[in-house]
Amino acid sequence: MGKIVAIDGPAGSGKGTVANILAKECNLTYIDTGAMYRAIAYASLQNNIDISEEDKIVELANNSKIEFIDGKTYLNGKDISKEIRTMEVTRIVSPISSIIKLREILVDMQRKMAGDNDVIMEGRDITTVVFPDATYKFYLDATLDERAKRRYKENIEKGMDVSLEEIKENISKRDYNDMHKEVGALTRTEDSVYIDSTNLTIDEVVKKMKDVIEV
Ligand code: C5P
Repeated sequence: MGKIVAIDGPAGSGKGTVANILAKECNLTYIDTGAMYRAIAYASLQNNIDISEEDKIVELANNSKIEFIDGKTYLNGKDISKEIRTMEVTRIVSPISSIIKLREILVDMQRKMAGDNDVIMEGRDITTVVFPDATYKFYLDATLDERAKRRYKENIEKGMDVSLEEIKENISKRDYNDMHKEVGALTRTEDSVYIDSTNLTIDEVVKKMKDVIEV
């Protein structure tokens, strides 16, 4: 096992943004586990599989190859980076990620992807399930209002037309579901460094994390 930087936190807390920067600056392989759950949610939509058809979703995951290449997400060789960020996917990803057997498959994939590399991995269950013994553990947080505003801004920049209210409602529903899962629920562990980014810039969060990582 190489060096593992594990980050958990609710939707829109900035995990992806800071993980991306730290990966480059500290020479770590970035693994976005949310993108993996999104990839399966996207594949379910593509194959007209309903979120209640758990066996079919598990089978789909068993036949899926997910890769991260040059900052892009690939599913069975196809770049799906844009497709997995649509509201359609975002609406169903949390219930889909509650399927226990699916989580087992993806957690296994995540550990294999890490291999012996030095990695930075972010999601909801990295500090608790995937790598409870990670070298460094963080819990990134921010108020619901701030997180919704950030996502809204991101969407506008991408040319997506979704209201702030809808984003706020989606984030709050996802948070609730993510915190109340039977397996892999989002929890803040005692040994994680807690960072509330509500009033911090991206650079300030990165600096705080670097102070911990670069000892
Ligand atoms: O991180 P992101 O918001 O893209 O994740 C999308 C969804 O995937 C989350 O709302 C959560 O339901 C699920 N997820 C998960 N476990 C992870 C990462 C994401 O259940 N490790």
